[in-house]
Amino acid sequence: MPETNAIPSLEEAAQLQRAAVELSELALARSREVTAGGKRIDDHQVLVERVVYAATQARAITELVEAVSQAAAEGQASPQLELCAVAAVAELVGGVRARLDLVADDLGLEESALEAAFPAELRALLRACGHESVFRALGRQVCETRGANDWPLDEVCEQVREAVRGFAESEVMPEAERIHRTDAGIPEAFIRGMAELGYFGLAVPEAYGGSELGNLAMILTTEELSRASLAAAGSLITRPEILTKALLGGGTEAQKRHWLPRLAGGEVMVGISVTEPDVGSDVASVKCRAERRGDAWLLNGPKAWCTFAGRADVLAVLARTDSSPDSGARGLSLFIVPKQAFDGHEFEFVQPGGGRLVGKAEATPGYRGMHSFTLNFEDFEVPADHLVGGDEGEGRGFYLQMAGFAAGRLQTGGRACGLAQAALEKTAQYVVDRVQFGRAISDYQLTQFTLGRMAALLAASRALTYAAAAAMDEDERAAAPLAAQAKLLACDMAVEVTQQGQLMHGGWGYAEEYPISRYVVDAQVLPIFEGVKPILELKVVGRALLAG
Ligand SMILES: Cc1cc2nc3c(=O)[nH]c(=O)nc-3n(C[C@H](O)[C@H](O)[C@H](O)COP(=O)(O)OP(=O)(O)OC[C@H]3O[C@@H](n4cnc5c(N)ncnc54)[C@H](O)[C@@H]3O)c2cc1C
Repeated sequence: MPETNAIPSLEEAAQLQRAAVELSELALARSREVTAGGKRIDDHQVLVERVVYAATQARAITELVEAVSQAAAEGQASPQLELCAVAAVAELVGGVRARLDLVADDLGLEESALEAAFPAELRALLRACGHESVFRALGRQVCETRGANDWPLDEVCEQVREAVRGFAESEVMPEAERIHRTDAGIPEAFIRGMAELGYFGLAVPEAYGGSELGNLAMILTTEELSRASLAAAGSLITRPEILTKALLGGGTEAQKRHWLPRLAGGEVMVGISVTEPDVGSDVASVKCRAERRGDAWLLNGPKAWCTFAGRADVLAVLARTDSSPDSGARGLSLFIVPKQAFDGHEFEFVQPGGGRLVGKAEATPGYRGMHSFTLNFEDFEVPADHLVGGDEGEGRGFYLQMAGFAAGRLQTGGRACGLAQAALEKTAQYVVDRVQFGRAISDYQLTQFTLGRMAALLAASRALTYAAAAAMDEDERAAAPLAAQAKLLACDMAVEVTQQGQLMHGGWGYAEEYPISRYVVDAQVLPIFEGVKPILELKVVGRALLAG
């Protein structure tokens, strides 16, 4: 095909984006009827999954087109970014149409409605935007810039990104492979360095010792750290962030004054302990018991997958304070549980009164460094004033935990973008350097196409994540579903982009010597934690979009 194909403009791509949004809104409206305002989602899980995913893709390209148009108007959009927007619109509009086409009959969408949404001229435009020449032009740009992240930011955010990038490149990157391959712990130097630079206090208000630079600064920090290592740095601030939000949402003033400055200063490392061996997605069924004994609560029961539980100084533990059979989510409370910090993959902590906590790390293919522990509490004493919210916090744990998770999900969108960014950069460098059949593999059409597609998918997820960050700054509660959508799309994107990058590395992509092999195994955890993908789609995003 000719290299000279005219590349559609951003304005033209925006016509497709608007058409996709309209079709997705129509599908959402019909889904509300089918599911009785979201009450019968479980009777239509597959339908809802498709509609919710299509709505998420439509939202992502809306945010991307808006961000790039604004940057272009200010003379700040690079040719690479504009191409990203056109290519991403084509890719995601294709996804929206394919998903909704499959459920058209279930939604009562006539052929004529589908035709009206995308008449012949829009279909021709979609072919032009999605033409391989667009993706290949983008792929060539990516090779030239070696995939550099050129997303335009305001001055303050640019400074934040530069500063974190400097720290991540000089401190974290040189250690990332060693930590992964030897399943070592997190170097204390990372924690100290990040604490000195204030990274643990990004979500903590100034009144409590933080810098509260806002959610975009937090995302940029997470992204740059995750670009260096998802496991050894990018995920370190997620835990304090989750506990911070829970404390801000429902802690007593004394608790905020005590814990928040310590969290902000990185004095206190945190583990979040919700999951149990038999309880995962159905958080309301948590069984770990907390019983009041005088001035303390006694914790008893197993927990699972508590990341960083060894090194952590405190665990935020969701436990059942009301044992009546129908208490469900209302029977759960959140505790801040102090413990001694341990290195290694196993620990035992015995309290002076005999209470015991044992932990053993699960062996995992990726996401190494912080280690994720199975725990067991035996008559483990927690001071009464460590119940988040004090006596009034009893029974509110589930809601506080969910508020924390909303922030965690936003941050996970950032983590996914950072990891995918690393994959894009390493792949761009590799394909330029690698010669086969007498030419650099970056000269081949399919390589250029793949690289262009990777960049486009990443740009769409980044736009959605940054938009969710801005929305969270405005109203955390209202923006929680958008943060979940950002997590949903960005984590899938990171899985796909890292795998495509691995493929572009050929056999060397499977060698531990090349970091792309680490990116692939690290990315695979992203759609699992903080709400496994199907649960996020049905019970978080689906419920929110179909309510009413
Ligand atoms: C590396 C790692 C680190 C982690 N870190 C932490 C941590 O620090 N703290 C913590 O508390 N947890 C942590 N987790 C746990 C994680 O949050 C859970 O694995 C996750 O919530 C899913 O729970 P589960 O594994 O029990 O899966 P399940 O809930 O058993 O789900 C299994 C599958 O069944 C599907 N399913 C379940 N219910 C439904 C339904 N109603 N409809 C349709 N499909 C359904 C799910 O979507 C999923 O695909 C971590 C997990 C991993 C792998």
